[in-house]
Amino acid sequence: MIDIQPEASHYINGAYVEDTSGTAIPVIYPATGAAVARVHAATPALIEQAIEAARTAQPAWAAMSGTERGRILRRAADIIRARNHELSVLETYDTGKPMQETLVADATSGADALEYFGGLAGSLTGEHIPLGGDWVYTIREALGLCVGIGAWNYPTQIACWKAAPALACGNAMIFKPSEVTPLCALKVAEILTEAGLPDGIFQVLQGAGEVGAPLVTDPRVDKVSLTGSVPTGKKVYAAAAAQMKHVTMELGGKSPMVVFEDANIDDAVGGAILGNFYSSGQVCSNGTRVFVHASIKDAFLARLKERLGSVVIGDPLDEAVNFGPMVSEAQRAITLDYVAQGKAGGATLFHGGKAIEGQGFYIEPTVFSDVTDDMTIAREEIFGPVMCVLSFEDEAEVIARANATDYGLSAGVFTADLTRAHRVIGQLQAGSCFINTYNLAPVEAPFGGVKASGVGRENSKAAIEHYSQMKSVYVAMGPVDAPF
Ligand code: NDP
Repeated sequence: MIDIQPEASHYINGAYVEDTSGTAIPVIYPATGAAVARVHAATPALIEQAIEAARTAQPAWAAMSGTERGRILRRAADIIRARNHELSVLETYDTGKPMQETLVADATSGADALEYFGGLAGSLTGEHIPLGGDWVYTIREALGLCVGIGAWNYPTQIACWKAAPALACGNAMIFKPSEVTPLCALKVAEILTEAGLPDGIFQVLQGAGEVGAPLVTDPRVDKVSLTGSVPTGKKVYAAAAAQMKHVTMELGGKSPMVVFEDANIDDAVGGAILGNFYSSGQVCSNGTRVFVHASIKDAFLARLKERLGSVVIGDPLDEAVNFGPMVSEAQRAITLDYVAQGKAGGATLFHGGKAIEGQGFYIEPTVFSDVTDDMTIAREEIFGPVMCVLSFEDEAEVIARANATDYGLSAGVFTADLTRAHRVIGQLQAGSCFINTYNLAPVEAPFGGVKASGVGRENSKAAIEHYSQMKSVYVAMGPVDAPF
């Protein structure tokens, strides 16, 4: 086993910092349930230290040219790629996700974000607006100090998806990982320092909500970007709004995946597997309501059953394993409770449904068929490997049913009919949509939700709008024409 105990709990002003007087947070390896490391929550004194360091360092960072800032971010991307294996092992210890996933979807996705926004940094400009004599120019300015708060499912990716655009725009960021997965963000901070990032520009503070909350309400913080559940999002959004802070909210979902009768069944089944069982179902954009046209429902389920036969559940450090444990005992208990509610509510348990005996927080990939819209398992985000299969008869009906939710993160359509694909996607209320695939999130594409699933966008050029603000300057070229 590698030594995954970090040098210290926090990363402040360019260095690891420890203060064991903060609440101890054990790091539990989800595959065994054993504590493999320990960190401590940040004390108020450390929060103060980090905010002061950020406020002191940020103006000089913003004053550098975008190209210089970008060079540092791109260097960090290169270091992450060179250390991908080691970082993937750490991500696996932090989250329990199999190496087969972490090697390709976590540190590498973080590197993509640093490379992409590093490349954009030099091109962030304002514009010149001619008014026939007088003119206006605009300046794209950094917001100042941004706070990033992460969920536990993608600790490296979330830290990088927030830090990369924030830093590219000239902001400083204090990042608070989920207390469940505290390790990976520290590595991101360490690597950014190695790449040349000035001290104080990206810092990491550990702790649960009691560390996140004072960061959100501190008047010296200009923006809050949260990845988390809708209930937490509502609290954090309200707290930020009280001081008119900028926000990005990447929240939960109960996304629909619609499989029409002309769909390629293998692709649709593949999409449903990706959209329900990757990361043991702990993905915000998962297509957990799989609407299958009644005429192909049996064929779809039969193919799904076959493919579930090749799931390899086991030690996530073994690269042959493609389905790992859930992140925590608590999250598995929540998931098992939903499974019980599904059975009690009258859905057919088509596959799985049980915790796996032995050590670690394993649960079988689970499929319910004959699910109806009113059932709890079809309405609430489970955040575990539980797929609900519902059937439908026609297009207008399925669009209405797919949209009958407060959530609006993602949606997918599987069909061979090109015009239907675009017509249906155009009517689905979701921010991140897919046609004939599911759950791909390249850095070049905007990512985020509508309705209760969030505010703002991560990734792509759209993220720049959420980490910068415009100043417009009117320039008079003649005398001032006043009424008296
Ligand atoms: P939570 O909402 O429980 O927590 C999210 C983060 O907020 C954690 O770091 C948490 O700290 C912190 N937090 C909790 N309360 C407060 C508060 N009052 N003020 C400030 N910070 C606070 O979500 P989970 O960690 O359980 O993650 C799962 C959720 O995240 C799911 O709903 C999922 O859909 C969503 N998600 C959304 C994504 C998206 O991009 N749209 C991507 C990934 C996940 P701590 O937990 O340490 O107490």
